[in-house]
Amino acid sequence: MAKLHFYYGVMSSSKSAFLGINAYNFNRTDNRWEAIKPSIDNRDSDTNIVSRIGIVTKARALQNLDNYIPAPATQFILVDEVQFFKPSDIEKLVQIADNSNITIFCYGLKVDSNGDLFPASAKLLAEADEIHQMETVCEIPQCTNMASHHIRFDSNGNIIRGGNQVEVGASQYKSVCRKHFHDLYNGKVSLIQICRNQFINGK
Ligand SMILES: [Zn+2]
Repeated sequence: MAKLHFYYGVMSSSKSAFLGINAYNFNRTDNRWEAIKPSIDNRDSDTNIVSRIGIVTKARALQNLDNYIPAPATQFILVDEVQFFKPSDIEKLVQIADNSNITIFCYGLKVDSNGDLFPASAKLLAEADEIHQMETVCEIPQCTNMASHHIRFDSNGNIIRGGNQVEVGASQYKSVCRKHFHDLYNGKVSLIQICRNQFINGK
């Protein structure tokens, strides 16, 4: 039985970069690996995982894992944007780790922009052997808290509440701490007020 790891963190917490560093190290040690991602994530490329700091990892884009079979002799599987898979896909990864003895590293978001768990991430929190948090600081100017939530907003800086959990690239997001998430989500403060107009284009 191999280990199933879940690395969760907010957007911009370097998850895809760490995935790429793992792949780089596996190449150096001659380990067989492959990377997969949900095909819903076509932000940058259909076949590559591209981190925000430019590390590129070759990957297979898959709609689901129903018919997924790792290539022969695979020792490690790297999964990007794992939150966009379904709980049944996570069950498939559990089977692969347990029955094929392949170590699996999953990278993804824990909660959506309403503060709710993604179903796949909930399943991973229940099943993973190792759970790791990727830390980064809250994106509100001068805040020193760790970011744990995402706030979604339109081009005028108005907070978008509810809506589709699976959306890539359409809205703007900020990774914020729990306090700022609740203050903004509940309308206690406005984004323009606390960001001094720096929110446009995610800045
Ligand atoms: Zn904050």
